[in-house]
Amino acid sequence: MALIVQKFGGTSVGTVERIEQVAEKVKKFREAGDDIVVVVSAMSGETNRLIGLAKQIMEQPVPRELDVMVSTGEQVTIALLSMALIKRGVPAVSYTGNQVRILTDSAHTKARILSIDDANIRADLKAGRVVVVAGFQGVDEQGNITTLGRGGSDTTGVALAAALKADECQIYTDVDGVYTTDPRVVPQARRLNKITFEEMLEMASLGSKVLQIRSVEFAGKYNVPLRVLHSFQEGPGTLITLDEEESMEQPIISGIAFNRDEAKLTIRGVPDTPGVAFKILGPISAANIEVDMIVQNVSHDNTTDFTFTVHRNDYLNALEILKQTAANIGAREATGDTNIAKVSIVGVGMRSHAGVASRMFEALAKETINIQMISTSEIKVSVVIEEKYLELAVRALHTAFELDAPARQGE
Ligand code: ADP
Ligand code: ASP
Ligand code: MG
Repeated sequence: MALIVQKFGGTSVGTVERIEQVAEKVKKFREAGDDIVVVVSAMSGETNRLIGLAKQIMEQPVPRELDVMVSTGEQVTIALLSMALIKRGVPAVSYTGNQVRILTDSAHTKARILSIDDANIRADLKAGRVVVVAGFQGVDEQGNITTLGRGGSDTTGVALAAALKADECQIYTDVDGVYTTDPRVVPQARRLNKITFEEMLEMASLGSKVLQIRSVEFAGKYNVPLRVLHSFQEGPGTLITLDEEESMEQPIISGIAFNRDEAKLTIRGVPDTPGVAFKILGPISAANIEVDMIVQNVSHDNTTDFTFTVHRNDYLNALEILKQTAANIGAREATGDTNIAKVSIVGVGMRSHAGVASRMFEALAKETINIQMISTSEIKVSVVIEEKYLELAVRALHTAFELDAPARQGE
């Protein structure tokens, strides 16, 4: 008999009918003899609706109160799913994060899980009950309700699976696995049978929202077998695996990730002296703003140009700081641009292949897409381009790296 943690995302519990369907599915697993812990998200659109309400009162809602409110979305779905199970003769019990005691730090809206008390859940499983846990939420030492960041129910699922030493954590969603890229953008994207933790971590951190990055970190750290599956279609889904060899379905690139969440800032005509980068980025990091990509140009006239990217939410704040810095250090100007997007190719196969980056640049050049910034690591290459070319770039790269699914007959 296996212990399985199953997480169902927002669209999978988006209507009462779907919740009934999820209950049918869970019932089947239960009848096959498995112990089941179910984690659910809020009904699709609900978290956004709640945040919208808060913003009508305050442009920047107080984080503690925002968490009290957005955590209600998941509280509704755990109760509805438990009812749907009980109606079907399946004993079930719902728990909020607080009731389980999913202890987190106090970083409201982006809290981290510190520990999980599994005593209640184990007792319920032993008594033959299905346990339904609210995703995305926890409680801090002081008893304040916290939330784990957007997409955080994935992390609840994996963390519970780790705490319970579950045989598998199954993430049920509206796609039948992890694809070479977002299938909504590239219809020719292919489902991967397997992907390594390392690659999935890069994909998630570079913008693929199919799994929250922290859930992948957790799964890697505690070696939780993790699978992404379609909620209502049969299929093997995608296994996230530690085994590099086995996941090598194609030699070089496993996937393409992208995001529109960043903005670019440039300071020009900076006197080129030692410590320049620190003078520019010191005040940015002092304001708790995270910097992603950085480029410093070679100077001709003892001045230099310096460009970096930050999250769009931090853009205005960062630009103000940079303008101040420009005045302080005698730079010519500070400017910014939010019309950018980052496209990344990811694959462990890059380690053993030369020329991957240039093949990427060639594909973009063929589409006359200008590259504004580049950054690389062992298993990824990222470029910043103008936002309007994002979809074109992703499609071109998908084809250039031979990721397109073969056309079906008749197409
Ligand atoms: P849920 O509500 O179930 O958590 P999400 O919307 O968070 O679902 O994640 C699923 C979505 O992730 C898919 O509908 C798809 O558009 C998007 N996505 C982005 N990148 C990928 C990828 N590489 N593979 C599969 N889905 C992806
Ligand atoms: N409901 C939360 C969100 O929309 C958490 C989740 O769905 O994973 O971000
Ligand atoms: Mg999600």
